[in-house]
Amino acid sequence: MERSTIVRVHEGLHARPATRFVKLAKGFESDVELVKDGKAVSAKSSVKLMLLAVKENQEVTVRANGADAIEAIEALIGYLENPRAGLDDENDGGDEGSEAAAPAPKATPAAAPTDGTPKLQGVAASEGVAIGPAFAHFPPEIEGPGRRLQADEIEDELKRFRGAVASVQSRMDRTLAESNLSAGDRGIVAALRDIAADDSLTGEVERLIKGGDDAVSAVIAAAATIAADFSAVDDPYLNARADDVHAVGRQICLALLGQDEVSLETIPQGAILIADDIGAWDLARAPLKRIGGVVCGHGGATSHIAIIARSHGIPAVLGLGDKINELRTAREVAIDGNAGHVIVDPDETARADFTRRLEAAAQERAGLKVFKNVTPTRADGTVIEVAANIGSLEEIEAAQEAGAMGVGLFRTELLFMRHMHLPSEEMQAETYSALARAFAPHPVIVRTLDIGGDKPIAGIEFPAEENPFLGWRGIRMCLDRPDIFKRQLRALLRAAVHGNIKVMLPMVSEIGEVRRTRALVDECAGELNAEGVRHASFDLGVMIETPAAVLIAPALAKEVGFFSIGTNDLTQYIMAADRLNPTVAKLNDVTNPAVMSAIELTAKAGVAAGIMVGMCGEAAGRPDLIPTFIGMGLTELSMSPASIQRAKKTIAAMAAER
Ligand code: PEP
Ligand code: MG
Repeated sequence: MERSTIVRVHEGLHARPATRFVKLAKGFESDVELVKDGKAVSAKSSVKLMLLAVKENQEVTVRANGADAIEAIEALIGYLENPRAGLDDENDGGDEGSEAAAPAPKATPAAAPTDGTPKLQGVAASEGVAIGPAFAHFPPEIEGPGRRLQADEIEDELKRFRGAVASVQSRMDRTLAESNLSAGDRGIVAALRDIAADDSLTGEVERLIKGGDDAVSAVIAAAATIAADFSAVDDPYLNARADDVHAVGRQICLALLGQDEVSLETIPQGAILIADDIGAWDLARAPLKRIGGVVCGHGGATSHIAIIARSHGIPAVLGLGDKINELRTAREVAIDGNAGHVIVDPDETARADFTRRLEAAAQERAGLKVFKNVTPTRADGTVIEVAANIGSLEEIEAAQEAGAMGVGLFRTELLFMRHMHLPSEEMQAETYSALARAFAPHPVIVRTLDIGGDKPIAGIEFPAEENPFLGWRGIRMCLDRPDIFKRQLRALLRAAVHGNIKVMLPMVSEIGEVRRTRALVDECAGELNAEGVRHASFDLGVMIETPAAVLIAPALAKEVGFFSIGTNDLTQYIMAADRLNPTVAKLNDVTNPAVMSAIELTAKAGVAAGIMVGMCGEAAGRPDLIPTFIGMGLTELSMSPASIQRAKKTIAAMAAER
């Protein structure tokens, strides 16, 4: 029995998604295989799965044979099509969408240094600058004794090997269970643990032992073979997994030899860790807060070391190759993780330069960080909600880290665009519920589907239009397709049980659109009641992004619970200047008096009616405009997470001036 599908796992079945896929597959008795381009591998081996190098948007087939084949295929296809669904309670990987909390700097070496300071050039793997004492970490290579076993020794050697694997796994399990690993690091350690347990590695080692190799030599040889397979794949991310296989092999060898890895526990505060190679597991367990920077001979921008460094904000330069040996005896090291430069024992000029850059960066960061948990208020004590604009569950962590007071705009389009078919009510309910739970008791404002002919999605036929921005989009399309709209509204009613869900309608231009939506919401609630499905009501609001909505704002305000001003569209429609057309970009200016007066009219109408007025267009995050917006009566500003702390600072500064 088999079924094919298109893989929707972001960036394909690399380490963490492969781990999850295997975990799912192992839950079924049936033999399960994943087939790509005619090549079939066991779906229960993460190493084999990774080596299949399945990428996002590729077609694969899931094949199952056994008593629960139907269920297995259903579950695995479900995962491939919608990797987030059902994972709310998973604790083994965190972020499905991206491999790091921060984007990878460019993997290619930056331009050679131009000033006189001699610098070593590596791969810029995690941005930022650092200067500190060198902490050289060069644990000795493990060499296999190359001993040939007697026939009667083989059984004992197999037992010894299995014991070593079990002890490495249980140490990794303890790390996963006990330590304060971030979700990202946890996923990486879970992936390494899977490599340690994978049949590809253990099977090969056992084969070699049965052939007469001693266990240590067999592990080194098997790890080298699998690492070479990873290195041969045409995918830099998978190439980097070769280092992981070596690291796992090393751990098993150390367990066999009864040795411990040289500890990183003693690394001094702010030191630069210098190593030829360092296992992701070792780094994840190291006192990361004390590490000022990382320099390695191995690794690249997509290696697990880079991912961990980036997610902890540790500057890193990797892939130095043999040049790493020049650092073995260094006393002090300065690194530039943006350019990929390493300076050994910097002179006074270089030290002064790095110290100045460090101070400036730290000042900016620290200055803003203190605003993370600030609850900004207006002169009369009214709280100004500074919320996040996000479009997927993957962005929750960044929003929370920034100090978002809820979500002011959840763009649901991505949910619809990611799939080959319209997302089910179930899947939508899970997504909105996860969002509500993540930010409760803060509000999460979900915008109903805002899509038009310029961004077609599977499952909805859009007519060809001369002017899609003035066409069948947003609330217009939704009201014409109650089958699609009701599915979303039902999902939102169900999610409202789990937190503070609010719903807003895009592209509203007449009151009838709000009334018809309300009637549909009531219809959905009635259906859910009759079906005995748990649900709760939600506050309904509108985006103010058409001139029509501004002009009827007083009447609209009587019909809804809140306004959220979408300055991106409002500007283009007020100015009649396409927001995507660079030729008219100058007209697309929110500070144009015409747009500012539209915002003011909206605010006045909302305030007069006693409803909340917020803003979720890009202008909401502009420190130069925030005081004006607050002066107009806006009490909620929603923006990209990166702007949140600066916005809070701006509001706090207004208070300080009072
Ligand atoms: C807006 O129009 O201001 C807005 C926030 O929505 P979008 O950018 O998604 O159109
Ligand atoms: Mg808009």
